[in-house]
Amino acid sequence: MSYKPNLDIAKMYASFASPICEIDCGEQCRQFNPSGNPFCCDICVAVPVALKEEWTWLKTKTQLWHKLRGDECPTDPIDKEKMKSETPNYMHLMACKGPAFCERDYRTLSCRQFPFSPYITTDDRLIGLTYNWDFEEVCWVISNLDRVREEYRKEFLDIYDNLLFEYPKEYDSYYWLSEDMREHFSNAQRSIPILHRDGNFYLLDPNTDEITSANPSSFPKFGPYR
Ligand code: SF4
Ligand code: SF4
Repeated sequence: MSYKPNLDIAKMYASFASPICEIDCGEQCRQFNPSGNPFCCDICVAVPVALKEEWTWLKTKTQLWHKLRGDECPTDPIDKEKMKSETPNYMHLMACKGPAFCERDYRTLSCRQFPFSPYITTDDRLIGLTYNWDFEEVCWVISNLDRVREEYRKEFLDIYDNLLFEYPKEYDSYYWLSEDMREHFSNAQRSIPILHRDGNFYLLDPNTDEITSANPSSFPKFGPYR
């Protein structure tokens, strides 16, 4: 019998619902997107994913989502097959009706976690949150990590502590993403910002995983947020 993770999607969504910041970060970034949409809600910029278990649950609750067709971005058709080959087989590529129709309660985990991901050290410790560096130039939150609410950080870690325990493949996926991040930041001779589970901020050396306490207001700012 194959392993099935024990996931209660309704409970997970209810316990991971706090906003990232006190302000609506979408209002900060959308002014810099020609489409006028927050970057992470613009299918031409970021394609959401859902665990297959999420999609099974979501499709009984809302009409907000459909599985990605590939023609959702009018200016730049998505190469769905290529993207699929780069996506874990326990996930679906998704598209929603767009930010004007967003239903907060039915956002996927990928919406709720953006722009963050769990950071896992080479010796297998999930020490806190880091961010998706591909979005440094567009995401306001990445340039304002000191504005991330404590409650959001805690909810994020509670969810991922449980999810990565239940879902070993998802653990591996974030382990290798952390490895990619170490390689990228090491090549760029940069430190990795960490929102640690102890509530503090650190800069992590990508070559050794050593952390040094840091003042988040001194973290680099990017793109139009400099
Ligand atoms: S998370 Fe980043 S990209 Fe998404 S709405 Fe907020 S600032 Fe914009
Ligand atoms: S469901 Fe809402 S938060 Fe998620 S991508 Fe769509 S508009 Fe953005």
